[in-house]
Amino acid sequence: MRQLRGKKRIGFVPTMGYLHKGHLQLLRHCKSLSQVSVLSIYVNPSQFGPGEDFDIYPRDIDRDHRLARHEGVDICFQPIDAEMYPPAYQTWVTVEQLTRGLCGASRPNHFRGVTTVVAKLFNIVQPDVAVFGQKDAQQALVIRRMVQDLNMPVEIVMAPTVREADGLAVSSRNKNLTAPQRRSAPLLYKALQDCHHRIENGETEWRKLYPVIRDIIMQEPAFQIDYIECVDTQHLQPLQRITTSALIAVAARLGKVRLIDNIIVDL
Ligand code: AMP
Repeated sequence: MRQLRGKKRIGFVPTMGYLHKGHLQLLRHCKSLSQVSVLSIYVNPSQFGPGEDFDIYPRDIDRDHRLARHEGVDICFQPIDAEMYPPAYQTWVTVEQLTRGLCGASRPNHFRGVTTVVAKLFNIVQPDVAVFGQKDAQQALVIRRMVQDLNMPVEIVMAPTVREADGLAVSSRNKNLTAPQRRSAPLLYKALQDCHHRIENGETEWRKLYPVIRDIIMQEPAFQIDYIECVDTQHLQPLQRITTSALIAVAARLGKVRLIDNIIVDL
């Protein structure tokens, strides 16, 4: 890496592996923005809470290598826990306000784990540009804040969410859905799309839009809703009425699997 720095534009896509077409789209986007593309694969223990799915998070490193090679990735970096969190490790990066709401409310310390590992990966890879998915919009905005606040010389690009044919956002976790859960999972996006249509038709009051989303999701009574929120795209603060740009985000559990999705609307 040292020989490349400053000579070639380095693009970076951090992932937890079990690559799917969402990751592959980020890699293509990254290649279009850089001369050397770096993929990292690391299931970062510090972003999982106690009782979360770290142990059952899907992994298949051989398949990941094949897919990465096929996409023309130049460097695949797979750190190990002993390198990332050696004994006596005690340094954490925290973005304060942006991580309090949405996924941060029900996953305390999740974003602290994400920002810490991404800061470490940025220090190791030293990319010029890094690509993140809109599927995890709060994560991308938190990382953009961290980079600005800590003067990290890397451009953060957010790429659109890749979906299955029925609208479900592609995710490594979808593998852990049972067949009936998989059939119900697209309700999340269906609810967001319905909300989007209503906004396009002039409804901007969140108190009217919220029950529409909730009722569509609850067509599957097995859904346990974590949150349905409408926030501004800069500070992630709740909006009563949509006037400019808004992030409408949902998180819900089906059995053991926690699914998230969102749309960004611009008026
Ligand atoms: P993960 O491996 O789940 O940590 O995700 C690694 C990167 O891929 C993150 O920037 C995610 O936002 C992005 N990503 C995951 N799923 C999708 C998707 N369906 N569409 C676009 N990007 C995605």
